[in-house]
Amino acid sequence: MARTALRGRLSPRLEWRVATLAGVRQETPTALTLLLDVPGWPGHVPGQHVDVRLTDEDGYSTQRSYSLAAPADGDRVELTVQRVKGGEVSEYLTDTFSVGDPVELRGPVGGWFVWHPSRTAPVLLVAGGSGIVPLMAMIRARRQARSRAPFRLIHSVRSPSDQYYASELRRATRDEGGLDIATVYTRSAPTGSARPPRRIGPADLELYGWPPQFEPTCYVCGPTGFVEKVANTLVGLGHDPRRIRTERFGPTGD
Ligand SMILES: Cc1cc2nc3c(=O)[nH]c(=O)nc-3n(C[C@H](O)[C@H](O)[C@H](O)COP(=O)(O)OP(=O)(O)OC[C@H]3O[C@@H](n4cnc5c(N)ncnc54)[C@H](O)[C@@H]3O)c2cc1C
Repeated sequence: MARTALRGRLSPRLEWRVATLAGVRQETPTALTLLLDVPGWPGHVPGQHVDVRLTDEDGYSTQRSYSLAAPADGDRVELTVQRVKGGEVSEYLTDTFSVGDPVELRGPVGGWFVWHPSRTAPVLLVAGGSGIVPLMAMIRARRQARSRAPFRLIHSVRSPSDQYYASELRRATRDEGGLDIATVYTRSAPTGSARPPRRIGPADLELYGWPPQFEPTCYVCGPTGFVEKVANTLVGLGHDPRRIRTERFGPTGD
């Protein structure tokens, strides 16, 4: 089939678009937010992700998935990329990719791991490391819509320097009613912290989450092992599995 004919039939979400890097924000020593301009971007819902494709001069090409970090904003799209040591795509995006450079992007992708600002039910967000990215899009969408849906975020990070969006989240808990945020540390905690560094467990989910009787919608995102452990623990605590939505940030190479 002629290429142009095929393109005419593709849904806008399946079309590769050329995005240009317009700016960057350093989130942690190893994570960057990329501000991308994507002409003709069709818009998206918080929680969705995109595919990013890199192609070198020899024609070798590879792609990875990245969550959208902010609600829809015209042609502007934000991604936050955690540099994975030795990682083919994340190292390029965080070390070499420069303002004005192009990259191919396709999406938005995903329809289950999403939160619509019209929803009023309590929400529990549980993130491991960069798993906070799609959850941050939900928190930002809540603010933008002036929603009062009760939100609780539990973010598990290795150390205090690994906290993403730290000042924005501090402001949000101060200024936005109904949003509570807890950070738990796995390797080193701030001085004076009562909780010793350890992996997230039932006590953290009970202390900082919602009781199952409140029937929260739970969004769990992060590395595969983290997501499985948290989802199983939530079920063990009495949460209805039908209200637990998960997104696994496993390797996504082609
Ligand atoms: C739906 C979805 C959304 C995602 N959203 C984001 C996002 O918002 N931000 C983000 O930074 N990443 C996100 N990821 C992960 C991302 O797609 C890549 O897997 C990650 O950037 C590593 O790619 P790489 O090419 O750098 O590493 P690769 O070259 O693919 O892998 C290098 C080494 O790192 C290991 N590895 C691969 N991925 C990971 C990982 N996620 N964590 C730890 N080790 C890994 C591999 O097993 C391999 O040993 C998402 C994944 C999915 C499936």
